Amino acid sequence: MTDAEIRIEQVETILVDLPTIRPHQLAMTTMKGQTLMIVRIRTSDGIVGVGEGTTIGGLAYGAESPEGMKLAIDAYFTPVLLRSDPTRVAATMGAIGRVAQGNHFAKCAVETALLDALGKRTGLAMSELLGGRQHDRLPVAWTLASGDTARDIAEAEEMLARRRHNIFKLKIGKGDPRANIAHVAAIKTALGDRASVRVDINQAWSEATASAMLPLLKAAGVDLVEQPIALHNVSGLARLSRETSLPIMADEALHGPARAFDIAQRAAASVFAVKIMQSGGLFAAGKVAAIAEASGIGLYGGTMLEGGVATVASAHLFSTFATLEWGTELFGPLLLTEELLEEPLVYSDFSLAVPTRPGLGVNLDEEKLGRFRRDRAERSVHVLPRLKIGS
Ligand SMILES: [Mg+2]
Repeated sequence: MTDAEIRIEQVETILVDLPTIRPHQLAMTTMKGQTLMIVRIRTSDGIVGVGEGTTIGGLAYGAESPEGMKLAIDAYFTPVLLRSDPTRVAATMGAIGRVAQGNHFAKCAVETALLDALGKRTGLAMSELLGGRQHDRLPVAWTLASGDTARDIAEAEEMLARRRHNIFKLKIGKGDPRANIAHVAAIKTALGDRASVRVDINQAWSEATASAMLPLLKAAGVDLVEQPIALHNVSGLARLSRETSLPIMADEALHGPARAFDIAQRAAASVFAVKIMQSGGLFAAGKVAAIAEASGIGLYGGTMLEGGVATVASAHLFSTFATLEWGTELFGPLLLTEELLEEPLVYSDFSLAVPTRPGLGVNLDEEKLGRFRRDRAERSVHVLPRLKIGS
């Protein structure tokens, strides 16, 4: 079969509800579970590409939900995919872009599945399709977000002892800022130079509060401050960046290359949290990183608390960055009780190993997928015995 004859035969979208190992407290929500939207694209040469879309707290973090991604793909992307050439990923994504504005997360999931299929077809790891791997392992931060200082310190000590993480991010946007900083200072004092401690405010502070708190965060020994104020207030972020010697990282504000260019041009941040879904896909996230590199902005590999598939997709892209000064936070699968992969990802020596096999280099665990998919009750209804009422 020649490339010109390969077609997409089926696009399948599945919602999967997974428990988290503990509640995960952020400024905008407390997560007790995570929903993944898995997309599988089957092509006529027998290859199945897999992608994933995930959000933080349903619609609490941003404009897209897993349910909305499924709808966008089923109703709008699939007709385009069924008449596209799956061996031409960029052209296919361009065609989808002409029928669907925005929908960055859904586009990222589909682009991931197309690249996974292309990698499997060509025998190349996804990192090679994205420009070429420069790192085989990526440093991984852990987020301490139990909401309890003593529990967070105990969790950090355990992670250090297991050599799993020595970079800790604290979610502090919720509640009294001074109480939050006392919590941060207690954790940094306990961990000392054994760990890097960073904070993520998730847009929760006003510019005035952020301006007052930055010196206190510096005094507490914090290394990095993430998205302290509202994502639209780029001028405010630029003013805060000028007043402090602490590195300010843009996260929620980074919606793709155009926003990245605006933030870079206005010197509003000194670090970018590159996220594949928020950027609009793997190609778009690569452009965000290129803007950072050209502007002298440091790189950090961000997460949307993804499951195994999107975490690996992110890892392939981040492995192509020449320098990843601030590491990554690709710990999403570790927050879930189930990874959904046949073989677990390898987290050791404070880092994640980037898979090397073709495409994503991972396979879904079909048994677990069947157990946690949201429509499992509907799918099994035909095998359930009929209820006998009144007998
Ligand atoms: Mg963040």
